[in-house]
Amino acid sequence: MATYDALTDLPNRILLMDRLSQLLASSRRRGDSAATLFIDIDRFKGINDSLGHPVGDALLQAVARRIKESIRAEDTAARLGGDEFVILLPALSDDPEEAAQLAQMWAEKIKRRLSHAYMIDNHELHVTASIGIALLPMGDEIADDILMHADTAMYRAKESGRNTTRFFIPSMQLAAEERLRLQNDMRRALHHGEFQLHYQPKVDSAGKIVGAEALLRWRHASNGMVMPSDFIPVAEETGQILDIGDWVLVNALSQLRQWESARAAALGANLSINVSPRQFRRPDFAFYIERLLRDSGVNPGHLTLELTEGVLVENMQYTLDKMNALRGLGIRFSIDDFGTGYSSLAYLKRLPVDELKIDKDFIRDVASDPNDANLVETIITMAGNFGLEVVAEGVETREQFDFLLNRGCACFQGNYFSEPKPVEELTDLIH
Ligand code: C2E
Ligand code: MG
Ligand code: MG
Repeated sequence: MATYDALTDLPNRILLMDRLSQLLASSRRRGDSAATLFIDIDRFKGINDSLGHPVGDALLQAVARRIKESIRAEDTAARLGGDEFVILLPALSDDPEEAAQLAQMWAEKIKRRLSHAYMIDNHELHVTASIGIALLPMGDEIADDILMHADTAMYRAKESGRNTTRFFIPSMQLAAEERLRLQNDMRRALHHGEFQLHYQPKVDSAGKIVGAEALLRWRHASNGMVMPSDFIPVAEETGQILDIGDWVLVNALSQLRQWESARAAALGANLSINVSPRQFRRPDFAFYIERLLRDSGVNPGHLTLELTEGVLVENMQYTLDKMNALRGLGIRFSIDDFGTGYSSLAYLKRLPVDELKIDKDFIRDVASDPNDANLVETIITMAGNFGLEVVAEGVETREQFDFLLNRGCACFQGNYFSEPKPVEELTDLIH
């Protein structure tokens, strides 16, 4: 029992690592190539959160069954936990190149099999999977290394849009050097004024501007425009996000102050600023924001801070104290990228939250994918029951807008209305 997963009956991590070590040894002995496939179900959390854990569990069991049915007797399929599965494919070929082709073929086969509809508890569910492949042996790595390589490759598959397969290649480890360069560049960027804010309007159901979100841009001296997803994760890790976030807050608040006093009533009505986990974790976060508000002279009621789910569930009492202190001043709180995290709405409702932003990943296919439609509809309904406002982000088409309107969504953001733009280009939108 200690080596099998209770939910799916598949080997668990302990047994997997044992078999992986044996596989490494036997492959080296025989001189052939094997593969480790790291499988992660795309957006499983969304299904789990919206349809409930019993449905999520049943889905994982069904996935496990299909994986088991797809492989050979000599292969191993294991569940690491959550929606992560690993498959070991021994003795694929003596020729590494051919082994790679076969591993890819297996991955595609499994991906196809997993993508067929599931009927669970009267829900027709469709899921896709991202798969990372690590071939072995490569050098003198141990089982832990192989699993990490497959995991890294799986992340690359996710990054390239999910529902894909990626091989681990040693150059993925080069990332370390790249990060170091990025770190130095960011330091320079702050001192040389390479950061800039763009603003994306938020609109109501009539398309009228009701506020904006500040989005960071980096005009890199030699690489051109760098988007936040390419540097904020590293800034978050190194702690540089504290200085960068400080710059964002000071500049965004000063812009808000100008909108408040100018004729830009619509834009000045509400400004959303993204706060990263590291910023929020500062012990003095509430005082810090309070001081910035005082210095800038803006109306706290015009400010919305966007937080992500992860940080909110970390330490309930601590989080509550900070949020309540700021809420007392009139600041609103929004949960960004809702649907991608780990928390249930019921749990989040214990926090002083005003708004949910549905992640653009779910909006993208809302008019065509029944799963996403279902999820978005559920979020809107539940948010309504809890008295939370909902913002749909990443609205790009009339169809998406119509769908959301029909489901009762009242606030929207996306390129369909306006892309994020520098302040000067927004002035024509003011009235
Ligand atoms: P977010 O807060 O969820 O911001 C929404 C993202 O969606 C923005 O990406 C925006 O440009 C993009 N977007 C808006 N409309 C559309 C659309 O119609 N279609 C598509 N495909 N995308 C749309 P951006 O500007 O690249 O920012 C990415 C993320 O970086 C943000 O996601 C936010 O998490 C983070 N970020 C941006 N600025 C800041 C900042 O000042 N501080 C911190 N801590 N994070 C920031
Ligand atoms: Mg945001
Ligand atoms: Mg978002």
